[in-house]
Amino acid sequence: MPRTVTLTTDFGSGSDYVAQLKAVLLGAAAPPTIVDIAHDLPAHDIRAAARLVGQACLGFPPGTLHLVVVDPGVGTGRPLVWARLGDQEFLCPDNGVLTAARGRLPLAEARAIAVPAAAAATFHGRDVLAPLAVRLIDGLAPATIGPPVAALVELSWPQPHESSTGIVGEVVHVDAFGNLVTNLPAGLGPRLEAAGRIRVGGQDVTTIVRTYGDAPPGTPVALVGSQGCIEVAVVEGRADHRLAAGPGTVVAIDDRAAAPASALQCAAGGGAADRLRQWDREHVWHAFTQMQEYEPLLIERGEGAWLVDTEGRRYLDGSASMWCNVHGHRHPRLDAALAAQAAKVAHTTNLGLSNPTTVEFARRLVEIAPAGLEKVFFTGDGSSACEAALKMAFQFWLQAAPPQPARTRFIAIGDAYHGDTLGAIGVGGVDRFTAMFAPLTFEALRLPSPGGPRPHGETPAAAAAGALAALERLLEEYRGTVAALIMEPIVQVAGGVLVHPPGFLRGVREITRAHDVLLILDEVAVGFGRTGTMFACEQEGVAPDFLCLAKGLTAGYLPAAATLATARVWNAFLGSHADRRTFFHGHTYGGNPLAAAVGLESLAVFRDERVLERLPAAIDRLRGHLVGLAALDHVGDVRQCGLLAGIDLVADKASRRPYPWQENRGTRACLAARRHGAILRQLGDAVVIMPPLCIAPAELDLLCAAAEAGIRAATEQ
Ligand code: PMP
Repeated sequence: MPRTVTLTTDFGSGSDYVAQLKAVLLGAAAPPTIVDIAHDLPAHDIRAAARLVGQACLGFPPGTLHLVVVDPGVGTGRPLVWARLGDQEFLCPDNGVLTAARGRLPLAEARAIAVPAAAAATFHGRDVLAPLAVRLIDGLAPATIGPPVAALVELSWPQPHESSTGIVGEVVHVDAFGNLVTNLPAGLGPRLEAAGRIRVGGQDVTTIVRTYGDAPPGTPVALVGSQGCIEVAVVEGRADHRLAAGPGTVVAIDDRAAAPASALQCAAGGGAADRLRQWDREHVWHAFTQMQEYEPLLIERGEGAWLVDTEGRRYLDGSASMWCNVHGHRHPRLDAALAAQAAKVAHTTNLGLSNPTTVEFARRLVEIAPAGLEKVFFTGDGSSACEAALKMAFQFWLQAAPPQPARTRFIAIGDAYHGDTLGAIGVGGVDRFTAMFAPLTFEALRLPSPGGPRPHGETPAAAAAGALAALERLLEEYRGTVAALIMEPIVQVAGGVLVHPPGFLRGVREITRAHDVLLILDEVAVGFGRTGTMFACEQEGVAPDFLCLAKGLTAGYLPAAATLATARVWNAFLGSHADRRTFFHGHTYGGNPLAAAVGLESLAVFRDERVLERLPAAIDRLRGHLVGLAALDHVGDVRQCGLLAGIDLVADKASRRPYPWQENRGTRACLAARRHGAILRQLGDAVVIMPPLCIAPAELDLLCAAAEAGIRAATEQ
């Protein structure tokens, strides 16, 4: 006799819910055969619950759970699917379970379920699914329930049908009421056109595909994604649908084209998440993003190493929210420190005025910084921390005793990245970010990176020696005219995770000191534990003249940065007002007390949670996973430094021939990894793994599995 467990959302939400579901289901004396989500929940909760049940089910030992039934509670004419994924069976009108499950389980068999005509009119999932589930468990052959389905595809759909499961080979569209309509053999094109023009790569199209791997290229599938954003994964071959787009190309409905365009969006029912996605596309100009291809993904919450989107989907934060998160999201101590400071004052200016929290933070930074860095100049972000250091170095020489006004040049490393403001791109060396702006800024003297490819089998030691010799030559040639050398110590992150050979940093320090050239170390990306030590420069016992900090300075909570300098530098700026030696530079939010409060607490968490002591285990675990990733057919090179790795995708493994850049494989791998529960960022065709330092071993395993799945999807299809 099948045993049905009916679930409600009484358990709460998020990971608690999954945990509770597991406890209830696994704790049962006999394994349940049906998990049925209660039908009286609001539709939104049911969708969220469906996804959570899907996630929970994946943790069950094979065979313990025979069937998951998800009751949508509402809906008309939505496609129903029975699917066998791995050892589990699913019966489901919603894509929540199937999508979650299909991320990890192979699809063995799937069938479209014929809904009786009478039920279809006012289809109520429970009425159809529950009896069918019982019959399946009682031995009904799946073949009797409907025609086979070639593959399952996910539709993300506006409210009230945020998402659903489409079936390859069927025509799927949204009708004027926002309902998903299937099995329309003809007429899709005109209907979609009535709803809005759909453009891919400049062409109008009518049918779009999104699949998760099982549909062979060319399968005729019609699918429209969420809120007018469409992901093309398979392009069919019919003349009117032939698109110059490959897997992962993101396209969008051009809703300015026709008045009825609003039909699609209005029909969407104006759900809050959909409205936000629409506004996101219309109004938010995203950094480093081609907005014509942008597909909104709205992260609403975070918990530890996880991010949760507006639809309840969970992703591991594989890029530490742009390399800055340290202790995880919503760390209770950081949240409390922020709230406590907000209860006092959120912001007071640092221009000629101070605040107890900011002073205390400066003092703590000086305590932990390399020797000699005693002065803290607060800025707003990594770029401005570097700008401040460059300007300070320049002004220092004007005011030194004796003044050296000829020192106007800077040396920077090949493929350097120090931010996007004009001064920062002057010292930046990643051409695709900076070349266009060259007429607007100064040009740094360039030292080839010793972390770049070594095509002639050069040893790391030889690469370091070569780069140091080049530095000597440069300083000879430009003797007396160089103000400072700026570099990221140990590893150039944005340059492509270029790891410097041991001894290079120490050598640079010795040479710059010998030539009395100031050394600016940019630890915006590598500071605060990323490489295994609090600051990367500690690894070679180096203390710079300037240390630029941002990102992890507030553990990824608030925008804040700091430029630390030595007393020697500071002293050159002292004098009376009339001496005009002041550093006339500042940022409105520099030294913000909220940021200082969180930064202070973060340092306490480093100490109390023994973060640095625990890092080697995570670093080793990442190293283990990288062995497997390096073996993939289209991975050319893998570089690791601490809890940071770059994985180069190449067209040909043996020769390391790169993919044509236009193919955007790195981006495609990272977008594909999202479907496996991870947010990753790429640097060109290098996939970067850079999670919060707090990531747990099992989470790191999942993250690397998602990275592998994403890389495979982008390179093996
Ligand atoms: N320097 C380095 C090394 C960086 O990685 C970055 C940002 N990725 C910056 C400077 C600029 O920081 P921000 O984006 O905060 O301006």
